[in-house]
Amino acid sequence: MNTTISRAITAAVVRGKGAPFTLEEVNIREPEGVEVLVRVVATGMCHTDLIVRDQLYPVPLPLVLGHEGAGVVEAIGPNVTRLAVGDHVVMSYGFCGGCSPCDHGHMSYCKEFFGRNFGGSDADGKCAITDRQGEAVHDHFFAQSSFATYAISTEDSAVKVSKEAPLELLGPLGCGIQTGAGAVINTLGVRPGSRFAALGAGAVGLSAVMAARVAGAAMIIAIDVVPERLALAMELGATHVINASHEDVVERVRELGGGGVDYALESTGRTEVLRQGVDVLAGRGTLGVVGAPPLGHEAAFDVNDLLLGGKSIRGIVEGDSVARDFIPQLVELHRQGRFPFDRLVKFYDFEDINQAAEDSERGLTLKPILRMAR
Ligand code: NAD
Ligand code: ZN
Repeated sequence: MNTTISRAITAAVVRGKGAPFTLEEVNIREPEGVEVLVRVVATGMCHTDLIVRDQLYPVPLPLVLGHEGAGVVEAIGPNVTRLAVGDHVVMSYGFCGGCSPCDHGHMSYCKEFFGRNFGGSDADGKCAITDRQGEAVHDHFFAQSSFATYAISTEDSAVKVSKEAPLELLGPLGCGIQTGAGAVINTLGVRPGSRFAALGAGAVGLSAVMAARVAGAAMIIAIDVVPERLALAMELGATHVINASHEDVVERVRELGGGGVDYALESTGRTEVLRQGVDVLAGRGTLGVVGAPPLGHEAAFDVNDLLLGGKSIRGIVEGDSVARDFIPQLVELHRQGRFPFDRLVKFYDFEDINQAAEDSERGLTLKPILRMAR
């Protein structure tokens, strides 16, 4: 196959640590093997895009970020059997499909997860994108790099969705939303009648709140420092809210839960909040950890409290979701009005990507979605 064929696209490139996204005309090669080329219709922006832009995670620059893309399959590689041109897809994380976690259905703990999602290139170190000077631009971010008008994914990572579903809205299901919802439904297995607390009510935390309602939790406590987010949490299913900037979180949760909660989810990425997450658990409770501090950060907790209380702490990637199963389930729950994640979203034009990032960081927008012009 002639790999020199490529097409001109527009991509948002990060060229320096913490630098703004710059829209550039670049080239992307055609899909090979089991890859698909997706015309991106819209893409969510997740906190993880911004921590990589700021190089808290060391992905090589220059780089095209974006990992919540939704679009239409434009071309397929010669070995693709599951997808066809014209299919609507949501792009999700990359995995190898052949290691023991993948074999057992735990793709988000694939042994190659870091390389395939944060490596900045394919497994051979090659990039699919070149800039106008002919220099390689790092890509393959979460097996997509969707801050671009076209993205290369694979038939394993691109999840086919119904053409009836609102494609522009669906990208965030590929990461942030499936992370929060999956943590509650797949990992923690929140049970009907139980007590659940979300530490952090951002896009991930509020997705967890909605999922806890779907799961039938009797008490759903949302904790954040932004009053608007707490107000929205109440509309999405929280039964109680706590403003961590002027209330004692641990004392208040213990009081509300009659000793604590059965499940908690830490999505702030702050180690002092992780500590609170352990402290608010009732006996035999479980804390799920999804918030990502800079690499190398350590957290403390009271060992005897953990031990005597029979408590668990569980790290979670992508809500333990098998995207191909879980994303269509979330689409259906949304269609039924039981998982109204559209309430978290604000749309921006692609060229306003830096505004979207700023609004997200200032807490003004929960989940930006960038729309590509047609
Ligand atoms: P976000 O910024 O929307 O949410 C974080 C929330 O924490 C914000 O609402 C913020 O106001 C709140 N917060 C800050 N300080 C707080 C405090 N002291 N107490 C309570 N709340 C506080 O980000 P997000 O998109 O929801 O992502 C959340 C985290 O999850 C990020 O660290 C992101 O990188 C990570 N993430 C992990 C995975 C995974 O697979 N593990 C996937 C997606 C995102
Ligand atoms: Zn993400």
